[in-house]
Amino acid sequence: MAFEKVWLSSPTMHGDELKYVTEAYETNWMSTVGANINEIEKQMCKKVGCKYAVALSAGTAALHLAVKLAGVKPGDKVFCSDMTFDATVNPVVYEGGVPIFIDTEYDTWNMDPVALEKAFEIYPDVKVVVVAHLYGTPGKIDEIKSVCDKHGAVIVEDAAESLGATYKDRQTGTFGKYNCISFNGNKIITGSSGGMLLTDSEWAANKARKWSTQSRENAPWYQHEELGYNYRMSNVIAGVVRGQIPYLEEHIAQKKAIYMRYKEAFKDLPVKMNPYDEENSEPNFWLSCMIIDESAMCKQVRSEQDYCYVSENGKTCPQEILDKLTEINAEGRPIWKPMHMQPIYRMNGFVTKYGNGRAQTNAYIQGGAIDIGMDIFSRGLCLPSDNKMTPEQQDRIIEVIKRCFE
Ligand SMILES: *Cc1c(COP(=O)(O)O)cnc(C)c1O
Repeated sequence: MAFEKVWLSSPTMHGDELKYVTEAYETNWMSTVGANINEIEKQMCKKVGCKYAVALSAGTAALHLAVKLAGVKPGDKVFCSDMTFDATVNPVVYEGGVPIFIDTEYDTWNMDPVALEKAFEIYPDVKVVVVAHLYGTPGKIDEIKSVCDKHGAVIVEDAAESLGATYKDRQTGTFGKYNCISFNGNKIITGSSGGMLLTDSEWAANKARKWSTQSRENAPWYQHEELGYNYRMSNVIAGVVRGQIPYLEEHIAQKKAIYMRYKEAFKDLPVKMNPYDEENSEPNFWLSCMIIDESAMCKQVRSEQDYCYVSENGKTCPQEILDKLTEINAEGRPIWKPMHMQPIYRMNGFVTKYGNGRAQTNAYIQGGAIDIGMDIFSRGLCLPSDNKMTPEQQDRIIEVIKRCFE
């Protein structure tokens, strides 16, 4: 029997997007200049609560400019979230920097401030920290900020997944000095692509505008004193984003309802949902995730590109659940594989709350408590979280997951 595909997280259009795109077309502002760009920059400043927003071609472009603004130079070590999408850390390398990965904590699945403090003991000269808020859940911002302040380090905040999430009533994307959001196709609101740099620094906003438009000097001809990039957002893309912005809260409410339905349905299973600080933070619930108790994990082995597991009564594993979801045409996803375990970053430093993670011989043992990122990767998965999923479709997904534990 065929079921309609349920996506992990797909774009949800509302109609106004087309109106603003058409406006761009009819006024012939088919360019990286235009009313849609101006409007969304203004609207995002107001929504997020920052002074300046610079619309760019991608969140990755925003992170690249953020890393440049933070002053990362070739050879500089930079502390980075470890369990995240590689777009968080690649921009450090674009500038010749060397990412040092900071392990994850269990309370929010984000950068562990205790491991961060340890990292400053090992690498006291580091001046930049790139922090992501995974799956829309704010990290331990106060603790991370106080460690960074103590060591005089600048925060670059990767809020690509967490637009609209708050920590102590303040939006993510306002806690770092240079911050990034994304309008990639699967994010909570989308332009099909696109991103923004957010900052309170006028100097930084002006620099980002200049760098993103090929670094033209104020001269009658094309005069260049600095390296430039073609990173500005298109006015057509900005039209899509402009149509989406009024629906951010609605999307968050839908995503939260999905999360709460999973949570309720799984309350008697040996699993937990991706956790958050219920007292201080309100996630945007971009992706619902779960983690299987160690006692309910069947044997699962992953090589660099393949996996294998042994089904067992009463037990399961992420790869088995993902296979079962695929059978009913529902899209799940493994947790982001930690950066310190990626072949491209195999030689980079990795710090856990116990110190140098590379020196810990049992750091990679499945279910081991030392390498928390790998533990969450081993036992966790992202569930279908599309805001257009019907309760009936979600019930079917829940039923299939429950059966994995029988
Ligand atoms: C999506 C994403 C990005 C990059 O955004 P793009 O707009 O796709 O370039 C960066 N960091 C994280 C954590 C993301 O999920």
